[in-house]
Amino acid sequence: MEKTIFEKILDNELPSYKIYEDDFVYAFLDIFPVTKGHTLVIPKKHCKNILDCDSETASHIGAALPKIANAVKDSFGADGVNIFQNNEEFAGQVVFHLHFHIVPRYKDKDLHFDNLEIKYPSEKLSDEQFIEIQKRIVSKL
Ligand code: 5GP
Repeated sequence: MEKTIFEKILDNELPSYKIYEDDFVYAFLDIFPVTKGHTLVIPKKHCKNILDCDSETASHIGAALPKIANAVKDSFGADGVNIFQNNEEFAGQVVFHLHFHIVPRYKDKDLHFDNLEIKYPSEKLSDEQFIEIQKRIVSKL
């Protein structure tokens, strides 16, 4: 079966702005961030989504989420953080390798969640902008 984009990132076949890595978990910046610092957390072991995930893999992700979420929140002084993940196409899943979104929320620049669907900004960040964000989050870990 064809690898997903995230498996290619794990195998270093595609680049990513790495935030965190341990034996089981990898975190990196979302390429189309909905807010500054939008980070994805994935297991190294492939599972399609949470419905397909063994409890050991889920617990490794669960153990890593608090420290990554705190670093994401603190890096640009966010006022809150949403953590969410989509399971199956009908529920908005686009990449079929389990991932948790960490989305920082800023009072002065808030998001629109329409029926839980996030509107993505059309503007793409530059390499320099991604690197600045990456450095700020990593410095808080
Ligand atoms: P889903 O809708 O499956 O929950 O979310 C997939 C996420 O992956 C989206 O937020 C999208 O912006 C992100 N994404 C898609 N392709 C890439 C990529 O090549 N690199 C990175 N870093 N993120 C990606």
